[in-house]
Amino acid sequence: MKRSTPIARTAMKRSSRPKMTPARKAAAGEDCTLNVAGVCNYNAETVILAHFRWLGDCGGSMKPTDLQAAYGCSECNRWTDSPTPAERNATYESDRNFYALRAMVRTQLRMVAKGIIQVKGVAA
Ligand SMILES: [Zn+2]
Repeated sequence: MKRSTPIARTAMKRSSRPKMTPARKAAAGEDCTLNVAGVCNYNAETVILAHFRWLGDCGGSMKPTDLQAAYGCSECNRWTDSPTPAERNATYESDRNFYALRAMVRTQLRMVAKGIIQVKGVAA
């Protein structure tokens, strides 16, 4: 059967890329703040602002804010997002919470120093 009307052709939508916020841009060249023991590659060239969804305050397609994130190398980021079965051991979740909290504090201190975030009463 022949189609009576031609199929409408529209330009493909470009995939939505993550918005590059000042906090994300500032991750370039930073040292990893997660430094997961036995995982971290200590390679600043792979560091991004890694967002921690499992801490909540986001959902669906919503990404957590840039305050719920830390500078993390590719390996530490992988470890927090998708650990191997061997890495997902009995202490994995508490370890991950410890590393994330420490990394968020380290990252926020660097962001304050760079003027990316400001805290009243705290000098940059
Ligand atoms: Zn790392």
